[in-house]
Amino acid sequence: YKSSIPVGPQTALDSSAGVTAKGGRNKIMKRAVVLGAGGFIGGHLVKRLQRDGYWVRAVDIKRHEFFTEMGDDFVVADLRDVDQVKKIITSDIDEVYQLAADMGGAEFVASGDFDADIMHNSALINLHVCNLCQKMGVKKVFYSSTACVYPVYNQLDPTNPNCKEDSAYPAEPDSEYGWEKLFSERLFLAYARNHSMRVRIARFHNIFGPYGTWEGGREKAPAAICRKVAMTKDGGSIEIFGDGKQTRSFLIVDECVEGVIRLINSDFEGPVNIGSEEMVTINELTDTIIKISGKRIEVRHISGPTGVRGRNSDNTLIEQKLGWRPSRSLYDGLLKTYTWVKAQVDKKYS
Ligand code: NAD
Repeated sequence: YKSSIPVGPQTALDSSAGVTAKGGRNKIMKRAVVLGAGGFIGGHLVKRLQRDGYWVRAVDIKRHEFFTEMGDDFVVADLRDVDQVKKIITSDIDEVYQLAADMGGAEFVASGDFDADIMHNSALINLHVCNLCQKMGVKKVFYSSTACVYPVYNQLDPTNPNCKEDSAYPAEPDSEYGWEKLFSERLFLAYARNHSMRVRIARFHNIFGPYGTWEGGREKAPAAICRKVAMTKDGGSIEIFGDGKQTRSFLIVDECVEGVIRLINSDFEGPVNIGSEEMVTINELTDTIIKISGKRIEVRHISGPTGVRGRNSDNTLIEQKLGWRPSRSLYDGLLKTYTWVKAQVDKKYS
């Protein structure tokens, strides 16, 4: 990574009286830092917080691919460098949302070729961020964990996976990505216990939607399948990894952001699942996208990384603790996502 700091408009911070942000919002505002704001969920979260009236410092090692306007203050920074983190998490910040991580799609994580980078980079980011949040007295800290922390032995049966929050131990995640997340959950919880830091942790399950990576190898299954379908002519065929009988659930990004905001403002520390309970096989996911496209497309199964056999969010705990659970249908989310991915494909390739 090559990074520099600061880049982009710097808004003067006034620690005593709130700040005046862009767009004419000039009342006293809460100040949030979103780390990983150049990424998929972080980008959507920044937009939502600004709509809710926050002053937002958006931070990433890269700029957002699709959103040119990002936060009130966009800082390009490498969060593995503690000196850069010190300039970002300052004593006038009320809330920190930590979504920065070294991650990618199934091919990237499952190949094993990037294990050392994934663990080293994400752990360093979390060590620095967690410590600075405590030192700077940040009032609310959110950390994004993952369903990948759940043990392989509970996800062998595609029809009946167990992803209850308390089933994470004894631990046996299927990837080093999952192990690092488990370590960092414990890191944030240790700071909460030893330093009374107010931490909230969510385990996201397959978040998807528009304005995310849709090609290049780091994209997730829904975006990848949308792209393949959008790029295929009527009567053609697409390739899917594995037999397609593995199960998953997918949550539209707007509801993920809604869950994050409800969680950080709640009394519940977590970790808690933020995901959909509408479990489908990858074949069903593919068929739905093909149906949305209106094309006749044949599916060919090829060998490739497929991950665990079955995974589904269990929303009992979130419902119990927040009185809320995601409710949007997979179909609605796929319709929105396919429409957006197709527009990107048309723009780039036709
Ligand atoms: P993303 O890859 O789009 O966003 C992560 C961002 O972190 C990227 O923009 C990346 O540039 C940034 N980053 C990486 N290293 C950095 C560094 N050294 N300094 C500064 N920034 C750095 O991923 P996402 O899908 O938006 O996910 C956000 C968070 O949610 C991640 O922590 C991820 O592990 C977690 N999560 C996501 C999903 C999902 O389905 N998308 C599922 C479970 C958990």
